Amino acid sequence: MINQTLNPQQLQYFFEQLWKQSLNPIWVCKVVPNDFEMVSANEAAMRVDANQIPGALISEILEKGGHAPELISGYFACLETKQMVEFEQRPWVNGKEYLYRTLLVPIINEHGEITHIWGTAHNLTDFLDPQKELLAINQILETKITERTKQLRDAMEKLEQLSDTDELTGLANRRHFNRHLHALMNAGRPFAILFIDIDYFKRYNDHFGHQAGDACLRQVAECLQQFQRQPDDLLSRYGGEEFVMLLPDCPLHEAKEIADAMRSAIHDKRIPHPTNRVPNVDYLTISVGLTLSPAGNHDPDTVLKAADDALYEAKETGRDRVYMIELTSN
Ligand code: GH3
Ligand code: MG
Ligand code: MG
Repeated sequence: MINQTLNPQQLQYFFEQLWKQSLNPIWVCKVVPNDFEMVSANEAAMRVDANQIPGALISEILEKGGHAPELISGYFACLETKQMVEFEQRPWVNGKEYLYRTLLVPIINEHGEITHIWGTAHNLTDFLDPQKELLAINQILETKITERTKQLRDAMEKLEQLSDTDELTGLANRRHFNRHLHALMNAGRPFAILFIDIDYFKRYNDHFGHQAGDACLRQVAECLQQFQRQPDDLLSRYGGEEFVMLLPDCPLHEAKEIADAMRSAIHDKRIPHPTNRVPNVDYLTISVGLTLSPAGNHDPDTVLKAADDALYEAKETGRDRVYMIELTSN
């Protein structure tokens, strides 16, 4: 406690010195109805605002001095809570912004009533410019980070798209197909799967050349694409001259119809293939292996193998046809 080490004279002397010499404003005001009345302000306070003369009301001083409104609410908070309050204040004095850390302390009489409030403010104006500078730098950095994040996201999206697309045909690639297949299986959604392979395509290349072969692959891709019924049907280039179609929630009879329609559509294009060994045709044909993911927990390999086996059977039994293998539920 102060009065254990200082007698009242010492206390008065020391406080007087502080009052006179402090570079920080110190003032005392009296509580009056709905306002506060200045009793005295030290020199440092007067240098900041010469309106702080004895008898002046705090509300008037604030209004004249361009102080921020939080100061008056600080006084009322001090009055209501009977506690010390502390807050930041940024008055504009003679066209210059100041920063003060203001402390208001209630002076309570023996009846527990607040009679006065004394205030002191710590001048932090010197920190204002570096603080502003830091805020500005921070703002610039944030803008830059936002910009870069967007660029990065765009690049990632583009990369993702590229790495999901078959360059030659523009169809989904095998990676994309695998992801879709696993997603369907994880979601427990049934689907039909069609493996589509061009018949005697090696002979086509041998006859017309690799470039014509590429153009032919693009033509086939474009033709097969129209058989996607809904957004999550997916035609992919599985590799070489082999395509795969995933048809979620597609019953067997519908999948069979689609496979037949694909085969007919390729027929109808009459893409010349004079060295096709399929009997009675001299145009391009395809073979299709079809299976349906049954209810139950088949792993993707089982379903893929069944579709591949079906394609093999289509080839073995003469090509230019659809072969179907039905998996039994497990
Ligand atoms: P099958 O009826 O048994 O399927 O006979 P196929 O000749 O179609 O099958 P094979 O697997 O023997 O040959 C596939 C050929 O597909 C080999 C290759 O010349 C051709 N091929 C694979 N990828 C491409 C490609 O990207 N461009 C071109 N032009 N040809 C390709
Ligand atoms: Mg082939
Ligand atoms: Mg093949």
